[in-house]
Amino acid sequence: MDLRTDLVGAWRTRQAHFPSEITFYYPNRTAAISLTGVHCALNCAHCGGHYLEGMQPVEIAAEQAATGKGAAARAKSCLISGGCDHDGRVPVTAKLEAVKKLRPGRRFNWHVGLIGQDDMEAIAPYVDTISFDFVGDDATIREVYGLDRPATDYAETYRALVSRFSVIPHVTIGLRGGEIGGEFEALGMLRELGLESLVFIVFTPTPGTRYADRRAPDLPRVAEILV
Ligand code: SF4
Repeated sequence: MDLRTDLVGAWRTRQAHFPSEITFYYPNRTAAISLTGVHCALNCAHCGGHYLEGMQPVEIAAEQAATGKGAAARAKSCLISGGCDHDGRVPVTAKLEAVKKLRPGRRFNWHVGLIGQDDMEAIAPYVDTISFDFVGDDATIREVYGLDRPATDYAETYRALVSRFSVIPHVTIGLRGGEIGGEFEALGMLRELGLESLVFIVFTPTPGTRYADRRAPDLPRVAEILV
């Protein structure tokens, strides 16, 4: 079957299961907060810590919330993120006092990485949603994150998170430098594990990273995965 036929079939499926509406959210009162400032132990091939530079260190955000001045004070919601340690975990409890100061009146969406049970317990009172980067291929994990962890570790962490939180898995199409490497496997694993929503991200090369000279995946390949 060619892609055009698949697209028509996928559209019919969409029409059969969802209303003819699309909702856009503009998170212009969401503060992006880093628990580690601009520091990250992983230096991933697609990011290299670059995206931390656009986030606010949690101590500064907490200070703004306390004084009622600054972007964080106006925020209705926060992305609580940060760099990772060498095991692919965001140190979610390292700045918990600052997180608590920021919490009143705000919804929190966390990036946690390969979090353990104790850390889940510690942050539970401050979680509304978890955004979880899901990867379905061992070689992609090694190449992109430099982590010697199998894809089943991502599945186990996801399973543990889903048992207690609202979790939105994120699948990056073309994560392996623009190549398709495990996206279908990731979707198959998620179908087994269960999910209520899903975010797709499409790889874009970022200057200053190891993948700076790669190309974004071809759109027909992206469409094939979405279908
Ligand atoms: S762990 Fe996150 S912040 Fe660190 S380099 Fe990788 S994607 Fe970027």
